[in-house]
Amino acid sequence: MEPCYGCGGHFPDMDGPTHRYMQSSSGCFAAFNTLLAAEYSSVDLGRINRLTVDTWAVQHPGDPGDRRAVQSVGLHLARLMLQLACPRPPAETNQVMLHFSRHKHTLRALVPPSDFSKTVADVAPFAGTPQHVSKVHEWAEATWKDWSHEHAYIDDWIARHSDHAVQPDQTASKRSGHTGRVKTLIGDPK
Ligand SMILES: [Zn+2]
Repeated sequence: MEPCYGCGGHFPDMDGPTHRYMQSSSGCFAAFNTLLAAEYSSVDLGRINRLTVDTWAVQHPGDPGDRRAVQSVGLHLARLMLQLACPRPPAETNQVMLHFSRHKHTLRALVPPSDFSKTVADVAPFAGTPQHVSKVHEWAEATWKDWSHEHAYIDDWIARHSDHAVQPDQTASKRSGHTGRVKTLIGDPK
C-alpha cells in the first residue's frame, strides 16, 4: 500500500495511468475509475456521477503553477458547493457550470486542506452496491467540510458570476426561509 500524494488515502502500489493535471497515485486513480465504471453502467448510480467527479477532483488539486489545475479545482469546488447547498437537476447544474467556466480565468489558486477526512479508498469498496450513493454523499460532505477555509471565497466567486446563469426566484427563497447566499441567488430546487 502507498499513500496518494493528492488525497492521502492508502491504495495498492501499482503501475497504471493517472490524470494529466489532477495528480494522484495510480492506485487512487484506479479506485476512482472503479466508481465511475459503476456509475456509467447504471442509470440510478449515474445520477451521482457529478458528485463523485467533483469530490475526487478537489482532493487532487495538482500543481498550483498549472493554470488548468487551478481552474479545475475552483470550478469543481463551485459545482460541489452548488450540489450540496442547492441540489438541482443535472442539466441545470451543467448549464450553470458552462456559464461559470467562461469566468474561470478569474479563479485564484486555492489552498488545499492539509488532509482529508475521507478519500475514495473509503468509497470504492462499495462501488455498485446499495451503499454506493450514500457513501459518495458522505465523502462529498466530508470533503466540502475539509475545504471550509475556502468556502467564503467560492461563495463570493459564485455570487459574482451568477448574474445571467440562473433565473433566481427570490420571493420563493424568502418564503421558504433560506438565507444562504447561494440559495438566494440561484433559487430553490423545484
Ligand atoms: Zn488520491
